[in-house]
Amino acid sequence: MLKPNAHYAELKDSYLFYNISQKVKAYLGTHPDARLLRLGIGDVSLPLCDAVIKALHEAVDDQAGRDFHGYMPECGAPFLRASIADHYRRRGVMLSDDEVFVSSGASDELGDILDLFDRDSTALVIEPAYPAYVDANVMAGRKIIHLPSGKENGFLPDPGEEARADILYICSPNNPTGAVFDRNLLQRWVDFANENGSVILFDAAYEAFIEDETLPHSIFELEGAKNCAIEICSLSKTAGFTGTRLGYTVIPKALTRAGMNLNDMWVRNRTTKTNGVSFIIQKGGAAVFTDEGQKQIKENIQVYKRNARVLTDALDRIGVWYCGGTNAPYVWMKCPDGMGSWEFFDYLLERAQIIGTPGAGFGACGEGFFRFSSFGNPEDTALAATLLQKLLS
Ligand code: PLP
Repeated sequence: MLKPNAHYAELKDSYLFYNISQKVKAYLGTHPDARLLRLGIGDVSLPLCDAVIKALHEAVDDQAGRDFHGYMPECGAPFLRASIADHYRRRGVMLSDDEVFVSSGASDELGDILDLFDRDSTALVIEPAYPAYVDANVMAGRKIIHLPSGKENGFLPDPGEEARADILYICSPNNPTGAVFDRNLLQRWVDFANENGSVILFDAAYEAFIEDETLPHSIFELEGAKNCAIEICSLSKTAGFTGTRLGYTVIPKALTRAGMNLNDMWVRNRTTKTNGVSFIIQKGGAAVFTDEGQKQIKENIQVYKRNARVLTDALDRIGVWYCGGTNAPYVWMKCPDGMGSWEFFDYLLERAQIIGTPGAGFGACGEGFFRFSSFGNPEDTALAATLLQKLLS
């Protein structure tokens, strides 16, 4: 009889978003006319920018005529790999086009990339964390080392003995905390990885939200990172591609372990396991990297950043501890009066019809914290900030 992958039985059910939806449903059952202020969502609310829409339309027309494209190259269309490599070069990170791989998004890639590593390798997850890091490794039967972080280190821990593992996840700007690794701290992690022969999986899904230009957008801005890191990026939050699906991954040619070259291995993996990303979507993605596209996506990001600012201004006035918001779309606050994160969720829903995300859903050390997303609409965010201030002052 077929033996299923027994590690699936070890997965913990993700109650977070299910619980939230159940609680919201129950509330609406008793308050059908309530205007809910949704600050829990991690999805964008603004449409794709004009430059992308135009490129998508043109690509559809190409598919109707002489410029029709069939299968695309598995590792990405040359025009898009070149645009992305050029985007890095403009920021001072020298990459060759074939160090860039086009993907259908960061989630897909965060799961698939684990094919490169032995199942006996260990994975370090700095918590609180995006839940997919843990789940993808549980499915593979890998040993996971949970490194808690907290208010005392601004949710940005230093590497140390307890962080020793083969695969090191670093997410900066971070979901859920909004904290961003500065150059010195990230350099310490790069040095630590190189000393131990580890590989860093650097999740840069939110790099476009960095406004303090002393902070690194890419791990490859750091000395020695090309010998120890893979960077996983997404156009989801950068350019509103959550439903359109496009991302990219950088694997430097210098990255080798035990005599094997990880870039070559990924080429082999992609040519076996995918037939590439749709031509139309890649054309739309290439428009993001034009001057016009960059200008337009930055305007959209500014809308989200203003939302974050409205929230952090309110928290500043109340005097509540928080991090994030400035260089990230998430604001991570300490729940008031020693409340637990689900208790605070209920309190905000009942008293102000605000929906956020309880920190406990991102790992045990997230208990007592709460995440607000800045991806909602500005009017609701402003109203939520006013109500929050009234409630907690
Ligand atoms: N990484 C982090 C930290 C995220 O928060 C998300 C989505 O919320 C992803 C990756 C997934 O992004 P994508 O839409 O490209 O799959």
